[in-house]
Amino acid sequence: MSGTPAVAERVEGLNVIGGERRPSRSGATFESRNPAHAAEVVGVFPRSAAEDVDDAVRAAAAAYAQWRLVPWPARGEIILRAAQILERDKEPIARLMTREMGKVLTEARGDTQEAIDMGKFIAGEGRRAFGETVPSELRDKWAMTMRQPLGVVACITPWNFPVAIPSWKIFPAIMAGNAVVFKPAEDTPACALRFVEALEEAGLPAGVVNIVFGYGEECGEAVLRHPGVRAVSFTGSVEVGRHVAEVCGAMLKRSSLELGGKNAIVVLDDADVELAVDGALWGAFGTSGQRCTASSRLVVQRGVVAGFTAHLAERAASLRVGDGLREDVQVGPIINEKQLRRVHGYTEVGVGEGARLVLGGEVARDGELAEGWFYRPTIFGDVRASMRVAQEEIFGPTTVILPVESVDEALAVANGTRYGLSASVYTRDVRTAFRAVNELEAGIVYVNAPTIGAEIQLPFGGIKNTGNGHREAGHQALDEFSEWKSIYVDYSGRLQRAQIDVEM
Ligand code: NAD
Repeated sequence: MSGTPAVAERVEGLNVIGGERRPSRSGATFESRNPAHAAEVVGVFPRSAAEDVDDAVRAAAAAYAQWRLVPWPARGEIILRAAQILERDKEPIARLMTREMGKVLTEARGDTQEAIDMGKFIAGEGRRAFGETVPSELRDKWAMTMRQPLGVVACITPWNFPVAIPSWKIFPAIMAGNAVVFKPAEDTPACALRFVEALEEAGLPAGVVNIVFGYGEECGEAVLRHPGVRAVSFTGSVEVGRHVAEVCGAMLKRSSLELGGKNAIVVLDDADVELAVDGALWGAFGTSGQRCTASSRLVVQRGVVAGFTAHLAERAASLRVGDGLREDVQVGPIINEKQLRRVHGYTEVGVGEGARLVLGGEVARDGELAEGWFYRPTIFGDVRASMRVAQEEIFGPTTVILPVESVDEALAVANGTRYGLSASVYTRDVRTAFRAVNELEAGIVYVNAPTIGAEIQLPFGGIKNTGNGHREAGHQALDEFSEWKSIYVDYSGRLQRAQIDVEM
């Protein structure tokens, strides 16, 4: 059903520090805008700086002293309630997300659902959170492990999954007993605030999660450098991620990084090509290609490349671009004007490199589209693996087709980037499928499905330049936010020396 989106009210957001609503100390603010109608201000938020971050870290440290003592199951109950509140409010949250971030309503509902799933899943860790009990080499001695919180941790998030990504970080962080300073992306502050409000309503004690709004280089930088922050969980670009790792490394803080991707779908000669076209369409153009797992490379074997390219181009040409609040729209806007220019810049790069522009390659300006930042779904054909459009993350509705001769070459091309987040293979041959699963250099591999579609019960993350070895989601999410403590209990009543007083 198509309908004119209603004009919605403006959010007057404030920082949440120690349970209080506070403007920035300087009084400065910034706006978040609707990328489908750039003149529409979605909300006004404090432009926070180092002094506001300091307030938030102090509030978090004060709350941490008590929160870490709350039993795990009780912490889990609060997280479960927050998930239920998000479920109750799923529709208004999704609508707010589409207004603020632009993704089409169906996907905004999916983003919110992912947070609900994450909350329900991680709440269960309150009654699991397994440690180990292992034998001791000595008599009457017990050896076991338990998780311990880190203290105050920072969560710095991007705009492309404005509710799901905060949930991947904040739910496990507080489940493990940490207190959080949350610095969301400057493009999606209203969504971030809704997430924090759900936690507040669920009964989370004041100060356990604090939110400071602001720009990366000002507010985010202060979060990174604050000596009271023990760990930084960051999702965003490689450039900023490297900087986060450097600053945290010098301060001996833990940092966990979820960075970019250049994810390949491999389509082999024996694939169900129709199914592969369905997958490529969804993987490349869903969220206007603004997913870290977007199918931004299509590695297609020679026997099917012509048919695949023609069919994909035909389907992509008929995708409806527009305001994601209209139910019939399939491709929403690009997040902001800077990003729109960047996406178009890559079209110019591709043309300059000699790639064949099969479809799109232009800013969409007809009618109402001129009010926002829209880009036509874009496909390059006859792309070589060495081209920049085949190597660099574009983060827009642009995908490139790389023809290959053999399975060996397909795997080599798919693996031939500095990223390693997600990869996929379409084949009907079970042997080739398992070979690809084993050989594709990626944290996540799909068979006969596109590179997007992760579920929260498995770990999420990448290898190579996509990250630094951590995983979000799954029970592994707790690893990011906890330390292991090893405990030995000697009830023998005498001194027993490990490695020395051992009996055979
Ligand atoms: P970005 O790196 O520009 O910003 C991410 C966050 O870092 C924002 O909150 C920003 O304000 C903050 N920031 C910027 N400079 C900072 C600094 N000096 N110190 C501290 N914080 C700072 O990324 P983006 O444009 O918001 O997001 C797009 C990128 O995120 C893409 O590269 C995408 O692949 C990646 N991403 C990765 C995953 C994943 O899980 N691997 C998921 C989603 C997005």
